[in-house]
Amino acid sequence: MAKSKFEYVRNFETDDTCLRNCYIVVRLDGRNFHKFTEQHKFTKPNDIRALGLMSRSARSVMEELEDIVIAYGQSDEFSFVFKRTSTWFKRRASKLMTHVASQFSSSYVFYWKEFFGEDQPLLYPPSFDGRVVLYPSNRNLKDYLSWRQADCHVNNLYNTVFWTLVQRGGLTTVQAEERLKGTLAADKNEILFSEFNINYNAESPLLKKGTTLIWEKRDETVTKRMKLPNEEEREVAVTRSRRRVQAHHCDVIGEQFWEEHRDILED
Ligand code: ATP
Ligand code: ATP
Ligand code: MG
Ligand code: MG
Ligand code: MG
Ligand code: MG
Repeated sequence: MAKSKFEYVRNFETDDTCLRNCYIVVRLDGRNFHKFTEQHKFTKPNDIRALGLMSRSARSVMEELEDIVIAYGQSDEFSFVFKRTSTWFKRRASKLMTHVASQFSSSYVFYWKEFFGEDQPLLYPPSFDGRVVLYPSNRNLKDYLSWRQADCHVNNLYNTVFWTLVQRGGLTTVQAEERLKGTLAADKNEILFSEFNINYNAESPLLKKGTTLIWEKRDETVTKRMKLPNEEEREVAVTRSRRRVQAHHCDVIGEQFWEEHRDILED
């Protein structure tokens, strides 16, 4: 196409190519979800429907976009890790980040009803911010994911005690906050156990560990009608290897997960 005299303005675009050889992490976080969760009557501390919707939206991101090898989510956030060798969109940070954010946001709206049914309508369009961070080594990437999972644990323990004190202990939110000021993890476990007979360790892994999505290969057998030369048409079983996104709610801080899934990280 002929170039117009306006074409030069393209040169104002800045180069945001991500350094080669690094994992590209895009982390999304819901905008103002403190309010959003109240307005949409999320059950506190953890609305399971909402966590399901977050995972469903993240799966859509992995399926629709290229080169994401693992994703980790908790609360109103999700992190997506692109493989080191990805050349998708020439590794342009803004392209990767905006595609992730918009695919995620539109999926969140698209699948809302599947998780919240008719009883809780979506009242306004939610949005998610995004950022890009590069990690040059496997150690750095594992530490990044460990950091997010540790955050999940700390917040979930706090929120669990806080809402137990409010919902079952009859405290106001201000009193509950006051009560928890300066307490350590052991104190919180103790409050749950001695006052409410709750063993935090027995809480669901979904809540304690968050959600890790990875690709898993599995053989899928389908029957097909086939006609071979000189034969009658008949049903034939065809097996092929299919990739699908699988959710885990396990520890990613220790080495076990990485040893069981050696194909996620590259050398
Ligand atoms: P910002 O726009 O700065 O991110 P925010 O209000 O979203 O502001 P966050 O620190 O991201 O602040 O906190 C997310 C809020 O959403 C927390 O209050 C958290 O308890 C709530 N939340 C997220 N997911 C759920 C859920 N599944 N069930 C109940 N509450 C949730
Ligand atoms: P990319 O992902 O690279 O942007 P693309 O297919 O979206 O690929 P564009 O250059 O953005 O490529 O072109 C947008 C396409 O959508 C064009 O084919 C354009 O004709 C079509 N399109 C956009 N808006 C309309 C519209 N309102 N009515 C009909 N066609 C439209
Ligand atoms: Mg925040
Ligand atoms: Mg938020
Ligand atoms: Mg958050
Ligand atoms: Mg386009």
